Order: sequence, then structure tokens, then C-alpha cells
Amino acid sequence: MSKQQDKYAALSPFELKDALIQLASSKAGRLMLNAGRGNPNFLATLPRRAFWRLGLFATSEAELSYSYLRHDIGGLPRIEGIEARFDTFLAENHEQPGVAFLARAVSYVREQLGLSASQFLHEMVEGILGVNYPEPPRMLRVSEQITREYIVKEMVGGLVSAQNVELFAVEGGTAAMTYLFNSLRSNGLVKAGDKVAIGAPIFTPYIEIPQLEDFQLEAVMVNASPEARWQYSDRELEKLLDPAVKIFFCVNPSNPASVKIEAHGLKKLADIVRRRPDLIILTDDVYGTFANDFKSLFATCPQNTILVYSFSKYFGATGWRLGVIALHRDNILDRKLAALPASEKKRLNKRYESLTPDVNALRFLDRVVADSRSVALNHTAGLSTPQQVQMVLFALFALMDSHNGYKSAVTKIIRRRQAVLYRELGIVQPDNEESVDYYTLLDLEEISRHIYGDAFAAWVKATIDPTQLLFKIAEDTGIVMLPGSGFGTLKPEGRISLANLNEYEYAMIGNALKKLLEDYFAIFTKEGKHGARVSSGKISKKPRSKIDSY
Ligand SMILES: *Cc1c(COP(=O)(O)O)cnc(C)c1O
Repeated sequence: MSKQQDKYAALSPFELKDALIQLASSKAGRLMLNAGRGNPNFLATLPRRAFWRLGLFATSEAELSYSYLRHDIGGLPRIEGIEARFDTFLAENHEQPGVAFLARAVSYVREQLGLSASQFLHEMVEGILGVNYPEPPRMLRVSEQITREYIVKEMVGGLVSAQNVELFAVEGGTAAMTYLFNSLRSNGLVKAGDKVAIGAPIFTPYIEIPQLEDFQLEAVMVNASPEARWQYSDRELEKLLDPAVKIFFCVNPSNPASVKIEAHGLKKLADIVRRRPDLIILTDDVYGTFANDFKSLFATCPQNTILVYSFSKYFGATGWRLGVIALHRDNILDRKLAALPASEKKRLNKRYESLTPDVNALRFLDRVVADSRSVALNHTAGLSTPQQVQMVLFALFALMDSHNGYKSAVTKIIRRRQAVLYRELGIVQPDNEESVDYYTLLDLEEISRHIYGDAFAAWVKATIDPTQLLFKIAEDTGIVMLPGSGFGTLKPEGRISLANLNEYEYAMIGNALKKLLEDYFAIFTKEGKHGARVSSGKISKKPRSKIDSY
């Protein structure tokens, strides 16, 4: 290995990405195309308009108090008469799209969800002003009732009643994972040395969390295979029958493959849970809303599953930090707490005694809330109330969209980008019904085979180190891809996000990669003439050293 290779081998995928970006931006006058970013470049605007309009209404509600002082001071908004005042606000501003949305939202909440319009408005007005600590800290009451309708509509497909779903509103999906792992450990539900099965390939940081010294969990990989269109085989899933495996941790639809677990896998997992009723499933369904009729493991194994959802990707809201942890009212985590040995219960009684006299009755989800603020600061736990308001407006936007207009618009955007990328690359686009196509994985060996045949593909595999290939792509073309290997894929692949660039840029990526393969093919044919043996991996010095220098 050269020094440079050593250097790259030691880098984490995120450091690798930074190094790639540096190289890709190094040529003056050339555009850097960062296809490594999962951050979308589209966003839902109407629920944001509604947020700002609501803010103006809320501020006038506050200014109804102390108005005699005229010192820019307001008071806490009052619920008495709030509906009538809101109607006046509507009448005066109904031509504003954000206001018209709010009018529909109030009607939907009252008529479709059967909730009190006054309570809804008061919670939203207080919430957007941010005048109280979040109370209850797990989630504001009306906000929870609305958001769980959204989760149930999008994730559960009618298999679980919304009334049985409880939410903890958190600062995005990643905060959810941090909180959950901490509480599982603090409550003795996982211990150092326990096994965690990880559905791979998976979002890089999720491979790293269980291995942290804080947790010392042993990772068991449950591998989805590209040959099986990224589904988990029955044999891989049967690893979960090992009683030492405490948790199955997965991203569904997956990242980087973007593929949801199909009906067979869901059924197989339900069968496994029947044989392993103690198995905890932790599923990150952030990409679920990009699918039509998505079915989460929370739908098929509700009592065993902790569902994490983030608003970051679908609504283009990574900066808002919005996510939820969802649990079924009747779940195995509470049952596991009840079954802990007396010594553990004694320890936990001490841990949570400041919260309640009856710690045994303290639910797992409420423990997660308390643990998120080191228990002692539980009274200040919870997601900031303006964040909860924006979350509710996103949820209502999707709930009221009976024709799924937003969903079809964003999925059309990413699918067109994918079509353009593959068209310019000159190969047939992968056709996978279970894919939400948020990312696409480019396997350069496969693509070489499609374009130039088996012999060239074998040469590519034997000659080119996949990580170095990504560096060469970055330097020659300005395109940054993330290495699939960083996600635990078993094949040499680069991940391209379809969410982050514009259509013509995906065309440029397709063109640049095609050109790169043409150059390699020219080297390959030249080598062939000189009788180089492809399988040895030792070709002539010149191209080899050229490749090695990245
Ligand atoms: C992007 C992404 C998230 C989003 O995390 P937030 O903290 O909500 O922004 C969560 N999980 C996966 C697998 C992701 O790719």
C-alpha cells in the first residue's frame, strides 16, 4: 500500500467525503458536484407559509394583553374567544395561501379528527410564541394527536389504531437514536456484550453507535443482497433467532440502497417475532414517506417495534430538526421493565424517584424523555414548542393532501433525475419496485460489464481499487460520491443522492462517468495488445501508477 492509500484507509466515510470534496473542488473554473449529500434541494413551502402567518396571528393574540402599556409587551394568549378572533383574521387575510391553509387545517382538525378547534388554535398560538416549557414534555397534547394520525396514515397502512400510538417529539431522527440507545442501556434492557443485529447496508453512524465504548454491543450484520434486489434473505433474517440478539436495528427503506422491505420480508420478520417475542425492533423509517403504501415493521410487529421518523428529508427540513419516536401503548419494552430482577428495579427506583412515587409504573417512553435531560432536568425536556408547531403543520399538509400531490411531485423530481443519470451513462436504469430511489448505487464493475463486456469488467475489478476510483472521479470530474463500502455494502459501489442536485447536473455526472470508463477502456485495449495478463492484476506500469496516485 502506498502512503496515500494508508491515509485513506484510516478515514471514516465522513472524513473520506471531506477529502473527496476537497479534491473535487481543487480545479479552478470547474463545478464541484456533490452527489454525496442526502440533504434534499426541494422543500414543502405551503406549511412554512402557514407557519409565518400563524406567527403573526399569535403575536396579535399576545398583544391583546398589556395593550395599555404600549411598550411592545404582550401577555400569554387566552383560549376564550380564540376561534372567533381567528375567524376575523381569516376574513381579513384569506387571499394569503398560508392563511387559507390554516383555515383548512382548523376545519380538518375539527371535522376529520374530531378535536377541539379552540384547543388546537390555543396550543398552536402558545406553541409558536414559545411562551411555556413543552408540557407534557413528551409532546404537546393536540400536536401528538395530529402527528400520530400522520404517522399511522403514512407508515402503518391501517393495521394499528392511531389511539394506540404514543409519540415523543425529538430533534430529528439522529437525536431519537441517541436518546433510545441511552435509555435502553440505562434501563438494563441492553447490556455490554449483548448482540445487536444491524440490517446492512446502513447509514454509517448507525454501525458506529452500538460499537461505542458506552454500549459495547456486539454487532451482527444481517445483510441485504444486491442479487436479491436488496432484500434480506430468510437465512440472513434467521440470525435474529439467536436469543443473544436483543435488538434488530434497521433503516427501512434503506440507506444507501433506498429499498423497502417487501411483503415477504415483513411476514418473515413477523414469524421470527412470534418465535422471539422478546426481540426489540428499532426501525428508522425516514424514507418511508417517499413510498406509496409504505408498511413499516411497526405495522406488522407493533408491540416489539420502536419506530423513528424524521421530517428532515421528505419536507426538506434538515435545519428544523424534527423527528418522532413512536411506540405502541402495549409494548414489550414496558413488559421487559416489569420483568426486571428486583435488584435492577431497586436501582431504577432510585434513578427515577424524583419524577414519581411509583417508578414501576413509569413507561419506557417517559423514561426516554426523562433520560434525554439526565432525569433531574425532566421538567425542561421536550422539543421546543415552535418546532412542534411546524411539525404539526407538515403533518397536516400531508394529511389534507388527499390526492398525494406533494408526494407525487417530489417522487417525480427524484425519478426524473435518476432517468437522466442512467440515460447519459448509457445503461438501463435498475428497475426495483420496492425502491424509493432517493439514492442510487453505482457499481462501476457492473456498469463496465453493461457497456464493454465481461473481460473489461474483470479488468476493472482486478485493477482498480474502488476507493481510489472515487478519488479519481472526484479529481477528474469534480463529482463526489460516497463509497458504498462505508455503509457496509459488500460490493464496490458509489452512492449518488438523487435529492441534492438538479437534473442537468445528473446528466453531467452520467456523461463524466461514461467518459471515464471510455478512458479506462482505452487503457485496457492498449494493455491487451501488449499481452498483459488481466487476471494477475499487474498491468503495465504506466496506468497502474496513474491509478495508484489517487
Ligand atoms: C438523513 C437521515 C436521517 C435524518 O436524520 P435527522 O437527524 O432527522 O436529520 C435519519 N436516518 C437516516 C438513515 C438518514 O439517512
